[in-house]
Amino acid sequence: MHLVGAGPGDPDLLTVKALRLLQAADVVVHDHLVAEGILALIPAATRRVFVGKKGGGFCCPQHRIEETLVDLARQGLNVVRLKGGDPFIFGRGGEELEALAAAGIPCSIVSGVTSAFGAAAEAGIPLTHRRLASGVVFLTGHEEPGKTESAVPWEDYARLGATLCVYMGMKNLESITGRLLAGGLAAETPAAVVQAATTASQRLWVSSLGRIAREAEEGGFTAPAIVIIGEVVGLAEVLQQRTAAELALP
Ligand code: SAH
Repeated sequence: MHLVGAGPGDPDLLTVKALRLLQAADVVVHDHLVAEGILALIPAATRRVFVGKKGGGFCCPQHRIEETLVDLARQGLNVVRLKGGDPFIFGRGGEELEALAAAGIPCSIVSGVTSAFGAAAEAGIPLTHRRLASGVVFLTGHEEPGKTESAVPWEDYARLGATLCVYMGMKNLESITGRLLAGGLAAETPAAVVQAATTASQRLWVSSLGRIAREAEEGGFTAPAIVIIGEVVGLAEVLQQRTAAELALP
């Protein structure tokens, strides 16, 4: 069993190891975040099991995915569990690994290019910079439905002086940016949204913390997208001019 990161979308960002394992697998278990171009690299005769959910729609509960992995491994098959980006960044890879460990199934982990890295590279944003950011934080903007208190202390993150990369943040972007502002992060702090980074349908918008939620909504930005907030985003200026023209937003 191999838990493998597929990267953000561009097949060229797949690791050599991931490609080698995909070509040797008996069965590949994947979800919707794995791009078509990557699935096309799986040999035609290899069995594929889709366990994804699209657009938040229900498909396969996590415990079913875990049972499927355990079942397939117990059949003696060479299984690749393929996940978008890196398997250990918001991909529930940790939970799958725990389930496999509990079942006594050994599993190797192959890291992938997480989508914040793909997004930053495409936008020309260095996530750290000697003058501008001494650290970088990966945050989730999506929390369990029904939770009353947010587990993410956004106001505290406003004070870190680090670059913030928000995954799954599109639905809650107004509340997220509002809480960062309330925590003291300046409204002029540069912020960018990169949708479908490294794919043919990539879209990029560079703005500021104070304006990005409204503009992303007006511009029709949707998941999957990464929001990057911090002074380093100011270095993406050249691309900003291009996308401003493309979207004709203020
Ligand atoms: N394990 C993945 C993240 C899974 S959580 C990784 O390391 O990238 C799903 C979220 O990842 C999406 O809601 C979105 O925020 C982000 N994401 C995944 N692919 C993306 C892409 N190509 N462009 C921008 N964001 C992406």
